[in-house]
Amino acid sequence: MAKTAVLYTPKYLNHNPGSHHPESPKRLKAIMEELNRSGLLETGKCSLIEPRRASIDDLKLVHEPDYIHLVEGYCASGGGLLDLGDTTVSPRSFETARFAVGGALEAVSFVMNERFENAFALVRPPGHHAGPYYAMGFCLFNNIAIAATHLLTEYRLDRVLIVDIDAHHGNATQEIFYDTNRVLYISLHQDPTGFPGTGFIDEVGKDSGLGYTVNIPFPFRINDQVYLKAVDKIVVPIIQQYKPQIILVSLGFDGHYTDPVASLSLSASCYLETFSTMLNLASRFCNGKLVAVLEGGYSLNYIGKMAAAIVAKMAGVTYALQDKAPAVSAKVRRQAENVIKEIRSIQSSFWNL
Ligand SMILES: [Zn+2]
Repeated sequence: MAKTAVLYTPKYLNHNPGSHHPESPKRLKAIMEELNRSGLLETGKCSLIEPRRASIDDLKLVHEPDYIHLVEGYCASGGGLLDLGDTTVSPRSFETARFAVGGALEAVSFVMNERFENAFALVRPPGHHAGPYYAMGFCLFNNIAIAATHLLTEYRLDRVLIVDIDAHHGNATQEIFYDTNRVLYISLHQDPTGFPGTGFIDEVGKDSGLGYTVNIPFPFRINDQVYLKAVDKIVVPIIQQYKPQIILVSLGFDGHYTDPVASLSLSASCYLETFSTMLNLASRFCNGKLVAVLEGGYSLNYIGKMAAAIVAKMAGVTYALQDKAPAVSAKVRRQAENVIKEIRSIQSSFWNL
């Protein structure tokens, strides 16, 4: 039996924010080309599955009805700019976004029903910046937050972990689960001062959610060594104490050093190592149950290889990918080390660090 489900439909190419927009259909084309070229889909270890379209009720798990209607109406009237930034929609974006939510929902159902051990929803548009009543940062509906809410309501889980390794803070995912301990949100990201404006170290949750939001903001241009240290010294011990019932990963590849949008300097190997750590924790605590949902990643030369390497890792198949990030300045490294120290001190009021 195949171990890994890859959720994808060519319909994901129908959302077109414009020919010069970085969140382009070319991203998924590059990923599918590499999956096909590498032969990964013929190994018998992973199955490519077309997801269903999410219902309006599915969208309402997280989003306000007025906002859903707004997006629908905007697309029906030809599209355009949906926020004050650069979240642009085309006539078929609403429909495409429903399939993106469907991809994330079906991925968690497959894993919960043990049809597959793990799953990767290769969706677009991405989701982690989209809040209950707003679009932001190329995101229309919050795919991973809807999937997590489905796990709370339909499967009655009490400990859902979301690890967000996109280069940007998942402001909306944090906001949606800020006051609950049923979802632990851990995000590693670049300095969020300019965008999205949230994700600082003192944002730690509130009410029942106090201690269940963990933010790790890095200075620009940090590299693998510091990132992996934060994973080792902060992320892993907190996950070991939380003992998640399932691990969801907001998987954005825009931390890569070649990414034209974000400003970290990570290598593909760093992504693979971090992701392997999550797979190991999933084996240890939740029977391997892990779902990855694609977020950002705009380097067309690397996104295909990185996604393929992740699928291979999930399915337990060999895929060679060698990559080395450029060196980082001593100053940036010192700054990052200090951030790690400070986070450990703040989070040690909630976790044994
Ligand atoms: Zn991003």
